[in-house]
Amino acid sequence: MKNIYLICFILVYLPLNAQIQYFGQNKPRYKTFNFRVAQSPHFELYHYFENLKVATEVLQKAEKWHTKYEYLLRFSLKKTNPIILYNNVIDFQETRAVNSGIGEGTSGITESFKNRIIFPIQFTTKQTEHVLAHELVHAFQYQLFEQSDSLHSENLQSLPLFLVEGLAEYLSLDKNYFHTEIWLKDAVLYNNFPTIDALVEQESKYFPYRWGHAFWIFFAEKYGNHQIIPFLAEYSQNGAKKAFAKILHTDTEKFSEEWQKRISLKYGSLNKNKIPEGINLTEHSNKLGILYSPTLSPNGQYLAYIAAHHQSEQALYVSDAITGKVLNKFTQASLGKKVDAINFVETSGCWSPDNRKFALIVQSNGKNKLCIIDIQDKSKHLLSIAASDVIANPSWSPDGNELVFSGLNNGESDLFCYNFREKTCKNITNDSFSDTQPVWSVDGKSIIFVSDRASKSSERQQLTICQLNLSNEQIDIFPLLKSADNTQPQAFGEYIYFLSDFGDSRNIYRFKPKNMATTIEKLTKFDTGIIGTSPYAPVFSVAQKSGKIAYILFQNHQYDIYLTAIEDLEKNIISKNIATTIPLPPTSDITPLAHIITHGYYKTKFKLDYLGNSGIGINASRWGTGLGGGLIGLFSDMLGNNQISAIATLNGELQDFGAQIQYLNQKKPLQWGLSLARIPYRFSDYSKIVSYQNNPSLRNQYNILSNDSLIQSTSYLHRLYINQVGLFGTYPLSKSRRLEFGASFNWYHYSGTKYVDYYKNTSNNNQNIFIASKKPEKISTAELEELGYTPFSLKQIYLAYVGDNSVFGNTAPIKGHRYRLEFSQYFGNFAQNSLTLDYRKYFHWQPFTLATRAYYFGRFGATNDNNYNKLYPMFVGYPWYMHGYWGNALRKQTSTLQLNENYLRGTKMALANIEIRLPITAEKHQGFINFPAIKSDFNIFVDFGVAWAKKQAINSESLSLYPTTSNSAHPLMSIGSGIRLNFFNYIIVEPFVAFPIYDNKIRQAIGGINFLVPGW
Ligand SMILES: [Zn+2]
Repeated sequence: MKNIYLICFILVYLPLNAQIQYFGQNKPRYKTFNFRVAQSPHFELYHYFENLKVATEVLQKAEKWHTKYEYLLRFSLKKTNPIILYNNVIDFQETRAVNSGIGEGTSGITESFKNRIIFPIQFTTKQTEHVLAHELVHAFQYQLFEQSDSLHSENLQSLPLFLVEGLAEYLSLDKNYFHTEIWLKDAVLYNNFPTIDALVEQESKYFPYRWGHAFWIFFAEKYGNHQIIPFLAEYSQNGAKKAFAKILHTDTEKFSEEWQKRISLKYGSLNKNKIPEGINLTEHSNKLGILYSPTLSPNGQYLAYIAAHHQSEQALYVSDAITGKVLNKFTQASLGKKVDAINFVETSGCWSPDNRKFALIVQSNGKNKLCIIDIQDKSKHLLSIAASDVIANPSWSPDGNELVFSGLNNGESDLFCYNFREKTCKNITNDSFSDTQPVWSVDGKSIIFVSDRASKSSERQQLTICQLNLSNEQIDIFPLLKSADNTQPQAFGEYIYFLSDFGDSRNIYRFKPKNMATTIEKLTKFDTGIIGTSPYAPVFSVAQKSGKIAYILFQNHQYDIYLTAIEDLEKNIISKNIATTIPLPPTSDITPLAHIITHGYYKTKFKLDYLGNSGIGINASRWGTGLGGGLIGLFSDMLGNNQISAIATLNGELQDFGAQIQYLNQKKPLQWGLSLARIPYRFSDYSKIVSYQNNPSLRNQYNILSNDSLIQSTSYLHRLYINQVGLFGTYPLSKSRRLEFGASFNWYHYSGTKYVDYYKNTSNNNQNIFIASKKPEKISTAELEELGYTPFSLKQIYLAYVGDNSVFGNTAPIKGHRYRLEFSQYFGNFAQNSLTLDYRKYFHWQPFTLATRAYYFGRFGATNDNNYNKLYPMFVGYPWYMHGYWGNALRKQTSTLQLNENYLRGTKMALANIEIRLPITAEKHQGFINFPAIKSDFNIFVDFGVAWAKKQAINSESLSLYPTTSNSAHPLMSIGSGIRLNFFNYIIVEPFVAFPIYDNKIRQAIGGINFLVPGW
């Protein structure tokens, strides 16, 4: 099970993938940004904020953290480090600085080519600063490894993630962080404390961010911050064993023991969480994946939550809050084709006061929208909010007329109120503080929310509960539990309920706003706590009219939803402002200088990202044939809007020089590119003809005696050259749909060289002795044409509409659909048109998948019938179409004359395939056997196929490619079963047994293996 934690990416290799694929999902760019540049002593900030204050503040903070890290690590950035800042997470997901897709749960990236730190502004200043500080550690890590004489950036890759990410968490969060403490306590309580070896080997089990943070806290306490760099350097070069021995004078086992002892001593007296009575939805989290943002309907009847197995499969579940039974499920695909994603990690949805509708935050067309779902008739409606591109945590007013939510504009989050009747949206907290997680008071006269407006220093932006009175716009601030974050307010009766991370746990508290929070009551006594995968994840909901409570408890390494009632919770009065957690190290002692910051505009400048050897070989793509091996260079500008890749190869002589250069422009929603290539092929390599020469003048020339013979050896070398110009474009309509178009021009011509050598064969010892070589001769064009090597050209244009929202399982898609409609036209020597209609739909009933495909491919409109199938013959028996009609399988049948191969050829073909897929080996919980190295599926298939040609083609004598035996098409079928094996996600192999069926007879079983063909 993959977990969605808030993480950052460290990217080490970014392949330039300009090649458009047959299927696949898109990374749309909905907006075009006008970037500016701001410069400080150590950083270069790329941003598009009109308000330069945002850029200035981020740079000041970056310099402040630089000063701190310089002090702690005794190392400073020598190179100006680029930072690319986005207005919000949706714009960030459109970044071109990295090619891979960015999903929800990624809050920042630091990549290896240009060391760019890429991140968006978050809903609170505190979050934004943490992301910046965390990513900045990665920039230090990259520069440290680049600048060292003995280290290289490859050494950084050899470090386990817990050291790399853990250090970023340790330096950016300091020592006391409740989230990490909760994980440590849970490990002690449930006896699940990892050793160093386990942290290295089981990254998916021991989340590297929390455990890495804990590791470095212990490390620094025992050995000091000054040992961090020496330890990392030693570890990256010589491994764990040497690093622990040489730098720490211990070994991993002793270190693990000591670490565990220390933590056990600290938390040994804890007891397992006592859970108040109620319903426990543990089985749901076992079955559905991690559960997010539980939200109770106001009457307490329904519970809505999001479950995510992995990112592409999130769904909204509505369940009965009494029994826990799931009543409804809404997948992302079911919300309509305009919806790119559901947002759920740090936002919840909300119920209408009549308990009938649920408003969910989704991404559509490059911004957040509210998807309002009627739970009864299942109708859906997308509501656009013009006031802000990103919104979070909506709350429906008790009278049903308004929605309040948090929005983010120009680097500041504010609360917005949307009126359904007037269709207007108003900013109700228009100031520089961070405001989020709003809810309506029970009487609908005020808004209760979370803000950093209580904290005075900019160092630690403590979050606490505030209340905005809508009639006089006055804001009350409730300091509540100091030096802790007080968040996620809920209103019921006279009380405000909230979560606080006071005392390194996370529990539910309440207070009466009328008393201005003089008395605080604690309602739960968990030692771990109510927390999700991120401290900002909504994990707590109170039904405003019934007092029911839903919350997510982290325990025994799992996030489970519990349901109970407020009346069943014990209330313990605590005096407020009691002793706080241990103070932070004196980072504020290091006074940052007011750095000089300059502003300017962005100019495109290409810089080399990567230069090296690519794999060997030539690849075939839809643009014809391309070079796949040789020297490869990637260039791009800072923002990744323009990318150039170039490959050059030289195998043999100068004529064999091949090169391909590709340009890609991704600045605007329409992405386009251009490619130029010269590709040489050598064939008939030195094919030899040997002959005896009796020409007297020639014999005289080489002084051949009359008893000896003169042997002439003639070799030929032929070359085919393809010169190619391609233009391609793609216009993503959403993550799953796109328009594609392209044109390619290919010129094919040949050359030939004749090599002649002479040998003498002496009669006495019958030995061939080399005498001389003639100067290599160029073969004339006429001679080449005689051999059939006539130059030709191929020109093609095409247009396609492609959809793909499928989810890939072990070896093939298991959910969703894919389709491709393509029209293409060839000009020149092979003029003709073709049409492809390909539709696939996948039905998933855990653990089974029913896969279906309907396919049509037709060629028509040729000026000369010879042109059809001359270049790429149409053949319905290819293994990616049908089982049992290819290679040996076909040979067996044709040799017994059961099947005429021509039945499988034509100018048009159609297919229908049905397959049942069952996972056998897979990652844990996804198959019967936990064996992720070789994933496999067992399949049962039924294939139908037919190929036919138009009548005149059949009668034409010259067209031996088409059926000549009959005027009618022969439908073919095969049934059988097979196993697809996915070796290390590298190659897929499919052994199978099929029973071909044709001419109304089931034929003998045929075994075969399909290679390199992932399931359709
Ligand atoms: Zn990171």
